[in-house]
Amino acid sequence: MQPRYPQKTPADRRNGRNVKANDVPPQGVYLPNNNILAPHMKSPEYVQLSTAAAITLGIMSGRMHGCECTRCLNLLLTYPEGCRANCAYCGLARHREADRDYADRNFIRVDWPAVPMNEIIDIVARDPGSSPFHRMCISMITHPRSEEDTFAVLSQWTNRIDPDAIPVSILSNPTTMTREDVRKTRDLGADIFTVALDAATPDVFDRTRGKGVQSPHKWSKYWEILQDAKDIFGPQKFGAHIIVGMGETEYEVLNLVQELVDLGGHSHLFCFFPEQGSLMDHLPATPRDQWRRVQLARYLIDYRAVRVDQMTFDDLGRVKSYGIPDSELSTIIDEGIAFRTSGCPGKFQDDISACDRPYGDSPPSDIASYPFQPGKKDLRKIRKQLDIPVRVE
Ligand code: SF4
Repeated sequence: MQPRYPQKTPADRRNGRNVKANDVPPQGVYLPNNNILAPHMKSPEYVQLSTAAAITLGIMSGRMHGCECTRCLNLLLTYPEGCRANCAYCGLARHREADRDYADRNFIRVDWPAVPMNEIIDIVARDPGSSPFHRMCISMITHPRSEEDTFAVLSQWTNRIDPDAIPVSILSNPTTMTREDVRKTRDLGADIFTVALDAATPDVFDRTRGKGVQSPHKWSKYWEILQDAKDIFGPQKFGAHIIVGMGETEYEVLNLVQELVDLGGHSHLFCFFPEQGSLMDHLPATPRDQWRRVQLARYLIDYRAVRVDQMTFDDLGRVKSYGIPDSELSTIIDEGIAFRTSGCPGKFQDDISACDRPYGDSPPSDIASYPFQPGKKDLRKIRKQLDIPVRVE
């Protein structure tokens, strides 16, 4: 799983220079690929939001396979010069400035329209109690203004929307953060703090988002901020994102899941998907059998108190047994929750994520993370992928 090496960006496109060379004032909602070069369309006045959130909010029309809406309002800070990091699997990475303006880049397989923050708040504030959103999340990117603008977006929200009605998560960018910044997000009303570790081992981290691709991130700094989040937010209120299938073994990723649980936190899994335009778009998506085993084992560790050392692994680090009786395992498989998208909880129950990210890690024709409750047909497919036959009662 070796990323391509980033090419040099032509000088006239570096740092959003071609966008900044224009002075078109932004007007309301910007739909990606409209090619309006609006250098002032930036946070904190503007944020980008996922296509699913834009459809749920009524800003965009469209339908999502199997889902009426998303339960998480995912926001992304936005700037004409974009994210200054260069993570190999990411559609927002810096190297893309060579051929795509920031506001037009795909990220976790979908477009992210840019919308004035006050328009979003106006819509949600009409009736937060009956909003379809169970949670709001601010995703920071690597940018010198990232912290200040996260505070501004967060306080704009909590000034008008009670965080008890719609809790807020922060998806942080540790590289530019301090412990005080973490504390400030909590003081301004954030409920959960997550760190996008993404890579499961230091080697994979360096190769995909560190010096291997001219990106500024360091494994040690990510862990420092994760520890700060643990101290400041407390048990069950912090966690880490992990992408499965970037070259780590199943044992390695599940060992990390266990480490996070032992610290009092949670893991949120993503199945590797070759994002178009990224430095890993030539590589295969995670095989479904590998993904399902990790999904199931992670669910057992995170929510069923099974430990990684109760499980067994083969010579290649693949899960051989899950450490609980077959009948119990069968019941958990049939409940289907283990195969839903993992993330911060919503209002249904602790192990059902508000952040359902419809089709963020797979196409609807071959679902990796289910953004809805898997039905009988889905479970038959999942069991086939797991190579665990359908239970005969
Ligand atoms: S820091 Fe985040 S947004 Fe920026 S390139 Fe890396 S993964 Fe993408």
